[in-house]
Amino acid sequence: MKDKDFKTKCIHGYDQAYDTTGAVSVPIFQSATFSHIGLGQSTGFDYSRLQNPTREHLEKTVASLEEGVDAIAFSTGMAAITTLMAHFKPGDHIIASEDLYGGSHRLFHTISMQNGVEFDFLDTSDLHGVESKVKATTKAIYVETPTNPMMQVTDIGAIAELIKGKEILLIVDNTFLTPYFQKPILFGADVVIHSGTKFLGGHNDTLAGLLVFKNVALLEEIRYIAKTFGACLSPFDSWLIIRGIKTLAIRMEHQQKSAIAVAEWLDQQTWVKNVYYSGCSSSAGYEIMKKHATGFGSMISIELDKVERVKTVLEGVKVIQFAESLGGVESLITYPSTQTHADIPEEERNEKGITDCLLRLSIGLEDIEDLIKDLEQAAGGQ
Ligand SMILES: *Cc1c(COP(=O)(O)O)cnc(C)c1O
Repeated sequence: MKDKDFKTKCIHGYDQAYDTTGAVSVPIFQSATFSHIGLGQSTGFDYSRLQNPTREHLEKTVASLEEGVDAIAFSTGMAAITTLMAHFKPGDHIIASEDLYGGSHRLFHTISMQNGVEFDFLDTSDLHGVESKVKATTKAIYVETPTNPMMQVTDIGAIAELIKGKEILLIVDNTFLTPYFQKPILFGADVVIHSGTKFLGGHNDTLAGLLVFKNVALLEEIRYIAKTFGACLSPFDSWLIIRGIKTLAIRMEHQQKSAIAVAEWLDQQTWVKNVYYSGCSSSAGYEIMKKHATGFGSMISIELDKVERVKTVLEGVKVIQFAESLGGVESLITYPSTQTHADIPEEERNEKGITDCLLRLSIGLEDIEDLIKDLEQAAGGQ
């Protein structure tokens, strides 16, 4: 697969044919179990919690797009992250981005800590800060870049260099950019996380998660945990993500183009105090991002001038929908402080900039003029 272009790989996926009919679309192997040809013999498929041909097609396709050795598909992004966290033991120390997806924040602060894993949360774009926190028990650095929702950018390659030769895993949640714009493994990441629910699936219709690995030993260990926990992706949902990925490249390009136009327009509005978009050349992470990403994606956060306008905008949008999630063909607007990041204490939220005036936009594939007009009418003037 390595010889094919990214777009071709998105469409044709993994080369293995499990079917003799010539079906152009990967068949959905809706089977819980697989019969054995003889005692001690297997077709390679035994039970769908362990392996399923449709899911395997998705796993190999995403692994190939991310330049990893293999991948494991889960029922949700959180199932993927929870399974990965079972690798860590009491006393292990993890350095993580302070600005994290709300569910990851909740998992780390409650269950992982309760299980004895220690954390330091900081702005991982600050390399010296990260270096100063590394200690003998440090087992992983967990990074989202750009972060959700504040768009902080971390230099993946520089972090990999910092921990070179140490037994520390570099884990990157690549949900926002997807391998179309950023391939963390090429810059030294050991594990790449995806909420497949977002850009990979791309249609706001399926939940899914993926872990992609740089090396086989960790993959095998996590596969063992995955088959034990059992939060695997169903054959039908695997197929929906496979279908979504076929248009990944074209969607990412177009959504980014619209996001740039929307961000530029927002930047000129008096009712917008701040625009956070990593594609703005004035944004803090712009230069770093250009080192390891070929694009900036289509996520924009904005700080409004006054809290009263939040309700006006959220209830006033007609094309853009007021809903959680991101990355689909439908544009969505989210209010992080009451939705995705509601579990983070208010003081901590304010410190990070996730204030009561912050809204997050995921730009979809609607007509760009319709999106801008929608925001204009929803904002309700000056
Ligand atoms: C949505 C999301 C997740 C969690 O994925 P689910 O599929 O909703 O469980 C993890 N990380 C990021 C960056 C996300 O946006």
